[in-house]
Amino acid sequence: MTLRCENLSYTELAERYGTPLYVYSQSALDEAFAAYQTAFAALNPLICYAVKANGNLSLIRRFAELGSGFDIVSGGELARVLAAGGSAAKTIFSGVGKSAAEMEYALKAGIKCFNVESLPELERLNGIAGRLNTRAPVSLRINPDVDAQTHPYISTGLKANKFGIAMRDAEAAYARAAELPHLRIVGIDCHIGSQLIRLDPLIEACERILALADRLAAQGIELQHIDLGGGVGIVYRDEDTPDLSAYAAAVQKLIGSRPLGLILEPGRSLVGNAGDLLTRVEYVKRNEDKNFVIVDAAMNDLMRPALYQAYHRIEPAEPPAAAPFTADIVGPVCETGDFLAKDRRIAAQAGDLLVVRGAGAYAASMAGNYNARRRAAEVLVSGSQARLVRRRETVEEMLANEQACL
Ligand SMILES: *Cc1c(COP(=O)(O)O)cnc(C)c1O
Repeated sequence: MTLRCENLSYTELAERYGTPLYVYSQSALDEAFAAYQTAFAALNPLICYAVKANGNLSLIRRFAELGSGFDIVSGGELARVLAAGGSAAKTIFSGVGKSAAEMEYALKAGIKCFNVESLPELERLNGIAGRLNTRAPVSLRINPDVDAQTHPYISTGLKANKFGIAMRDAEAAYARAAELPHLRIVGIDCHIGSQLIRLDPLIEACERILALADRLAAQGIELQHIDLGGGVGIVYRDEDTPDLSAYAAAVQKLIGSRPLGLILEPGRSLVGNAGDLLTRVEYVKRNEDKNFVIVDAAMNDLMRPALYQAYHRIEPAEPPAAAPFTADIVGPVCETGDFLAKDRRIAAQAGDLLVVRGAGAYAASMAGNYNARRRAAEVLVSGSQARLVRRRETVEEMLANEQACL
């Protein structure tokens, strides 16, 4: 079978743009966004796309066109949102280490909310808002202490994680926020982790956050919104991923008649399966007791296998001429951790084009220049049209910030 993205074959795209190449499907982005809108329609949520999943300006622009808000974790991501035509008024700022300069930039831009993760951050934000003669809209990120049952590196809602304010300190933190003159309390949020395969932890987190919102209301602290953090997990292999309608129904039942707006911050589930990485086989190498398919994409292009032992399906773009064998699929980077797949059945020979599936999220956005490798190009496909949305980095661009000093 010849694999395609919408109406264009991967072979044609690779010939036109070279490899390694990220390819995104616009209709897949649209469908993923619509799935959230449809499932949660009764709650009329503000969906804030988590930019860190994939910050390409054209993707941000598309989500902005669809009505999305944005969840950012740095001033750089705010700059991306604004450059792509996203609305600051629909942007929320998460993250444990916001700098004073980032806070000032976001306040001046007029973002919707700061998701504050600690008491010192609250004090710093109050000081900066005071200096700018304004009041900063805040939500406190509460750590509900539920086990998201995902990979430890992407689990964030346990007591042992660096994220959020502990549940038992939450009321005192809100009381402090209420005292600070340059803050305006608008909401509450949590985010327990990514690639969630079970609904129960998400629902339990929602329950705990709502119970806290009730205790706050009893103390005279009225919130406008509850923000449940990132989205559900996606299929990389054969995962049984949560049903969005079941999630929405559970949240609706829990919120009940409380006058609270809902915010969601999905990243992976909006873009992950809308993107693939194309890579060409350089060599097939047979060592004494192992086979290696050496491809032109590496851990600097797609870090997930090295970082999280993540699984990505890998398929030949055209019907293969070779017979299948078992191999590690590896890149040219000089690290044993540089692999895209381990012990995989694959039919491939030198020159073949391979499609690495599920590479829309936490892929291009994590790319770097290790081994002085230029970052890959990115293409957005809509129907029979392909647009180059990031051209391949040049060697000159890679070296531009450096000088060989004497
Ligand atoms: C990463 C992140 C998200 C997005 O999570 P996904 O699992 O990609 O949906 C949302 N909110 C916060 C605070 C995050 O750090």
